Amino acid sequence: MSKSVFEKIIDREIPAAIVYEDDLVLAFRDVNAKAPVHVLIVPKKIIPRLAEAVPADSQVLGHLLLKAAEVAGRLGLAKTGYRLVINNGPDGGETVPHLHCHILGGRPMAWPPG
Ligand code: AMP
Repeated sequence: MSKSVFEKIIDREIPAAIVYEDDLVLAFRDVNAKAPVHVLIVPKKIIPRLAEAVPADSQVLGHLLLKAAEVAGRLGLAKTGYRLVINNGPDGGETVPHLHCHILGGRPMAWPPG
């Protein structure tokens, strides 16, 4: 299997504007930002999408969400709020087959999403 673009970012084969990293996750700015703040946080473990996560991934999934909130706070979004989005599969709008959580903020978000 060829590497996804996010695996290449994790392995430092292509550049990204990294805002947070630890042993389990990496967060970097989305190249096609849809909000004043648009960061992706991804597990370093290769999980193609949420539907393919298994019980053994519980720790990394919990860590991903806790760190998403921490990164949002570091980026100044704690008070105004933010939206987390995980797109799963074609109808979900998934374009990169490596699990990622969008952190969007800096403007009010509409509901329902398009
Ligand atoms: P999704 O549509 O949920 O799969 O989201 C994939 C996101 O990855 C999109 O918002 C893209 O703009 C973003 N993206 C694709 N390539 C890169 C890259 N090299 N660096 C940062 N973000 C990227």
